[in-house]
Amino acid sequence: MKAMKLEALREEVRAVCVDLYRNGLVRNMGVGGNVSARDLDSGLIAITPSHVRYDTMKWEDILVVNAEGEVVESKPPLIPSMELRTHLLVYQECAEVNAVIHTHSPYTNVLATLYDEVPLVHVEQIFLIGKPIPVSEYVTPGTEAMARAVVEKLKDVPAMILRNHGPVVVGRNLTEALNRALTVEDASRIYYSACCIGKPRLIPLSPNS
Ligand SMILES: [Zn+2]
Repeated sequence: MKAMKLEALREEVRAVCVDLYRNGLVRNMGVGGNVSARDLDSGLIAITPSHVRYDTMKWEDILVVNAEGEVVESKPPLIPSMELRTHLLVYQECAEVNAVIHTHSPYTNVLATLYDEVPLVHVEQIFLIGKPIPVSEYVTPGTEAMARAVVEKLKDVPAMILRNHGPVVVGRNLTEALNRALTVEDASRIYYSACCIGKPRLIPLSPNS
C-alpha cells in the first residue's frame, strides 16, 4: 500500500480543528471555518475538507495540496475547503507563515458588524497579535476578492476579520495560529462584555511601551 503523505501534519491539523470546536470558535457542521498548515520541507499544504464534522474527522480526511492547489493526497469524495484560494494566496505572499486558521467565531463576528477594528483590550493581544485587529469590508466567500482582502490586512498584523464572516489568523506553526485564533475571540468577548456595562479602558498605543 502506498504511504500517505504528511501523516503527522494532517493529524496536527485535525487536532487543531477539535480544539477550535471545543472552544466554540467553529460550529460543528464543517462549514464554520477551515485550517491548513504548510510542510516546511516539501512546501505541500495540509488542509481541511469541505463539509466534514470536526469532532469525528480523521487525519486521513485532511487533504494535501501543492502550492498551486492541486490535490496530491485525498480520500475521495472529499474536496478541499472552499477557502483553499485564500489559504494558497496567504502562503504565496507571506513566506514566514506556515499555518492559517479561519473561523466563524461568534463574539468576533458581533464586533465586526459594528467596528473597523477590535482594539487592544487585553494584554494577551500584545503578546500574540501586537496591534488592534483590523476588519475588512464584506467580500463574497470563496472568491479571489476574499483572498486579496485577507492578504492585504495580514501585511501588518497576523490576524484580521472579514466583516459579516469571521477572522483569519496566521502563524509560523499551528500552535501559534491556534493561540492567536483563541486570543481574537477572547479579546472580542472581553470588549463586547465591557461595552455592555460601561466604556472600556483600552491599552494605550504608545511608541515607547
Ligand atoms: Zn468562512
